[in-house]
Amino acid sequence: MGLILRNVEVAGRSGLDVRIEGGRIAAVGERLHRAPDEINGRGGALIPGLWDHHIHILALAAREASLDLFAARDPDDLARRIAEATTARPAGRWLRAVGWHEAQMGDLDRTALDRLAPDHPVRVQHQTGALWVLNSRALAALPAGDDPAGLDRAAGHLWRGDAWLRAKLGSKREGGLPPLAPLGARLAAMGVTGLTDASVTTDATAAAGLAEAHRAGDLPQRLVLMSGGPLAAAADAAYAVGPVKVLLDDADLIDLDDFVARIATARRDGRAVAVHCVTAAELALTLAAFATAGARLGDRIEHGSVIPADAIPTLRDLGLTVVSQPAFVRERGDRYLRETDPADRGDLYRLASLRAGGVALAASSDAPYAAPDPWAGIAAAGDRRTAAGLALGADEALLPRAALELYLGTARDPGGQARRVSAGAPADLVLLDRPLAQALAEPSADAVRMTLIGGRIVHGA
Ligand SMILES: [Zn+2]
Repeated sequence: MGLILRNVEVAGRSGLDVRIEGGRIAAVGERLHRAPDEINGRGGALIPGLWDHHIHILALAAREASLDLFAARDPDDLARRIAEATTARPAGRWLRAVGWHEAQMGDLDRTALDRLAPDHPVRVQHQTGALWVLNSRALAALPAGDDPAGLDRAAGHLWRGDAWLRAKLGSKREGGLPPLAPLGARLAAMGVTGLTDASVTTDATAAAGLAEAHRAGDLPQRLVLMSGGPLAAAADAAYAVGPVKVLLDDADLIDLDDFVARIATARRDGRAVAVHCVTAAELALTLAAFATAGARLGDRIEHGSVIPADAIPTLRDLGLTVVSQPAFVRERGDRYLRETDPADRGDLYRLASLRAGGVALAASSDAPYAAPDPWAGIAAAGDRRTAAGLALGADEALLPRAALELYLGTARDPGGQARRVSAGAPADLVLLDRPLAQALAEPSADAVRMTLIGGRIVHGA
């Protein structure tokens, strides 16, 4: 019965065989008895599948069908890219663009966007994902009546309005959920076997769409979904319900009593709480809220972009897990270096100092706001280099093996003990084409030869 992977390296020991039965690892040892299906591992490492602990699946899939502005250099370049994309499509057809940022590309509002694209409804997303800019044609397609508080029609700015937009635009106009099969395959090819979706906007409709994609095999990864409001688990375990996501807005922080009440509500639903913290003020409020309400296993700080040194013992004592995005240093580090006071740079995206301080730490991509490749995160955690090659917090670098382990926690306890390739564990596995030490010397998804989820080969048949 089952499948045997022969001649693989497991936890530093080479020449081992691993037998898989019923979706789990049945045995790890030398010269295991024959099985109907055998794969020669050729000495490559067999490691647990990687878990991306904070990703936005639908936004990532939609982004692949969008105009990508992330690389636009300046306002002229932005204008040229939007003009090219609109000329290429019939008048009246929606254009969705992502990756605008005012620092490189200048300010953008309704009037400016009307000048760039007078004949198409256009929506442009800010790099942070928090803001959409809409032109007049786009606003005209969104009839007034139940405008959310975050919508300023005069400026064409919509803050944190994804759920409202999805409801307004409906499935017909934009063709329903974006295709998920290409994304599922791409993630499998990078060795990703589990995803925790951190979208605050996930509701029953979005969850049902993801569950359907999972059942169909389009999105083979195990799924854990956060949400801002209540969310029921899938009866067939197509996804599990994760923590309640709390978004803070630095310009308008909620007060401590409201925050504590939200944690209490999450507890009544049996859920942990994950708080988006990108500034020191957001972190301070969050720590105060957890200190008052009490923290439990699975409570998380998302991003932890700025963590003053004196917050580290508090994080440890509360038992909170910091879910970081190591690749942000590579992708955004040059901007951080320009915009951050040199005195505060040591607080940016801490890794090693959190570990040393006893804080549970896990990693993620936050894709589509950075590339979904975990190997890029492992590389950036190891060298702390920006895209331009400058060092950002070099003393926060982790050894490559420790960086890999940031993706090996469970969804329930992302910063806890790394999963292992051992008998009884689910057969969520990645077979590399080389020994682990060699793969970690130059971390790259190119080393992934085969990926299995629950014993089923989802990449590299
Ligand atoms: Zn996020």
